[in-house]
Amino acid sequence: MDILIHTASGMLMGTTMALWNPLKQSIGARFYAASLFIGGCAGAFPDLDAISQWSGFDSTLGAWFGLAPGDDVYSGRWWYSHHAFTHSLLCSLLFAALTFAAMIKFRRQPEARTQRAIHFAAVVALGWNAHLAGDLPTPAGSWDGIAYWWPSTNYIGGTGQTFWWNNYDVFLLLISGIFLHVMVMCWGRPSKHWLGPLSTLGVLVLIVYQLNQRPIDFNDRSRPYAERERISLDYQRNLLGDRLFGWMSALDRALPVYF
Ligand SMILES: [Zn+2]
Repeated sequence: MDILIHTASGMLMGTTMALWNPLKQSIGARFYAASLFIGGCAGAFPDLDAISQWSGFDSTLGAWFGLAPGDDVYSGRWWYSHHAFTHSLLCSLLFAALTFAAMIKFRRQPEARTQRAIHFAAVVALGWNAHLAGDLPTPAGSWDGIAYWWPSTNYIGGTGQTFWWNNYDVFLLLISGIFLHVMVMCWGRPSKHWLGPLSTLGVLVLIVYQLNQRPIDFNDRSRPYAERERISLDYQRNLLGDRLFGWMSALDRALPVYF
């Protein structure tokens, strides 16, 4: 899916963990905001492997490391290709461990340090995996899914339940979950609250339901790319109604990234 949905899914994991708070940390606005921010970063980071699509890739990284042309790298199956190493469980755990190590090293109060380090490592692991889960129902592309079990070369997902872009309904569900969590936080700042994971579970169930309502198999290559995109947009228009669809389309057009 697109970077906005991935970032939102990571942010939702951050707010879920902050509200759930199994380690009974005292939650302040800064702690909550940090969970939101770090979750969002973890949700966005796996797509750094799309750097091979950057216009300056061939003359810089490609030339320095003697790599194939950027388009070939992007669609290939090297470890640094799109949907490869950064889309693996191993990479998510590696970054979670790095977060833990950084928090342990740089936090001053020793009594809160370990708990906070565990919290933010969990936010990174969940946010990262939320991104990977979001890529599973998109079309297979040239990769046949993502290398979740890297270094295994068995790719998973790519099931084509939905198109890569314009999943406005999924985005709105994620934003609703985040909004609910922020409201709960502003209202009560609870020290421990099951509303976080329960509401997130509700959002995930609705997303899975929505993804299974799409009218076609988006892996059906007998339909040209443009036709699949149009069908996806028509589905969103019928679902959201003209007004909300218009707002989402305007947002889409205003953004410099695919949405
Ligand atoms: Zn991705």
